Amino acid sequence: MEGTTGTVTARSTLSHLEGGLSGKRYQADGLIGLDPSDQRPLLARYDLVRAASTMTRAAMASRRSGGLWRWRELLPVRDASFITYLGEGGSPLQRVRWPGLSRLLVKRESLNPTGSFKARGMAVAVSRAAELGASHLVAPSAGNAGGALAAYAAAAGVRATVIMPVDAPAVNQVEVLATGARLILLEGLISDCGRLAALIRDEAGAFDLSTFKEPYRVEGKKTMGFELAEQLDWRLPDAIVYPTGGGTGIVGMCKAFGELEAIGMIGSARPRMFSVQAEGCAPIVRAFAAGERFARQWDDAVTEAAGLRVPSAVGDFLILDCLRTSGGGAIAVPEREILEWRLRLGRLGLGYTSLETAAAAAGLNALVELGSIGEDETVVLFDTGAGYKSEPPRFDVTSPVPNDPEVWKAKVIPALR
Ligand SMILES: *Cc1c(COP(=O)(O)O)cnc(C)c1O
Repeated sequence: MEGTTGTVTARSTLSHLEGGLSGKRYQADGLIGLDPSDQRPLLARYDLVRAASTMTRAAMASRRSGGLWRWRELLPVRDASFITYLGEGGSPLQRVRWPGLSRLLVKRESLNPTGSFKARGMAVAVSRAAELGASHLVAPSAGNAGGALAAYAAAAGVRATVIMPVDAPAVNQVEVLATGARLILLEGLISDCGRLAALIRDEAGAFDLSTFKEPYRVEGKKTMGFELAEQLDWRLPDAIVYPTGGGTGIVGMCKAFGELEAIGMIGSARPRMFSVQAEGCAPIVRAFAAGERFARQWDDAVTEAAGLRVPSAVGDFLILDCLRTSGGGAIAVPEREILEWRLRLGRLGLGYTSLETAAAAAGLNALVELGSIGEDETVVLFDTGAGYKSEPPRFDVTSPVPNDPEVWKAKVIPALR
């Protein structure tokens, strides 16, 4: 990273780990997964006074390159030589004309390496695991996490094993194999893949990078919140709409805003955070509506948006806390609308987007119709993945044109006038 970031003097201020539920304190410099006291997620904590001394607005403006590693002080990697940087972070915020909203901005996370925001989490988690001495990483994945893990592990020179349900999208399987990682296709659900990952952890000595079962993927994802604040000149939007599966995106941004306030970069105002899920798998929406602190497992989860097919989230209470304290909410959208919105987004100027992005768009549309989001508000919608990462839509392709200029003049050109 030397010379590429302008941040060579910046250092991590990681101080300890804290149980997300228990509040118990643990030292941060060993490979550790869940909170040993309750098997819930651990969160990274920093020396925010020290971070504030070097992370001023002016200092950040002078750090022009380095993607998400510009935020070094609030990331866990201590030794820069362990940073595996493939270009993650620094995604643009695109203004889009949206019916019923005066100011909609779309955070284009689909432009990250491996085509989804999963790159942020894996960049940081793989770099940190390598720094802490891991030599074999394992994760279950329904889609994009596996590809991101495989890419970063290869770049870091660490072995990786990815476990996917046998019906995971073919594109996601291919990108794991293409980077030389081991792919295990399991005749089971994502939860079964998680159980096999735990066995590989316990019996084969691999470190488990499952969502929220180690503390650092969420640290990579929180940088979306840092960037958003900076890109909006340190004034957060009124509302954020995010397609939610395991919840690291939502939880990461809530954490980011808290840290930015603590180091004096922003005030106490927060966006209302909205989670969008598919009607075929909406455990967070159900728990939010019922006022519950934890989300029950969703049986028979079905949606083509693979990143949202998460029937039970280990970080459920962190997601629900974030939605509630921000004054936001959670909404489920029908599968048919997800498919429709994917094509509408293309026509609105967002290119070919993933089904998860389309779900978020369908959710935004519903929130505007319901009046939960008002016309004059500044709203940020997250485009979490590129179109080619999801199963392709089915088009009626027109029959091919003969290679004959007479036919072109007689039929093709008149139809285009
Ligand atoms: C994983 C994934 C999601 C869900 O994100 P979480 O932060 O885990 O809730 C959304 N979109 C895409 C494209 C994904 O790959």
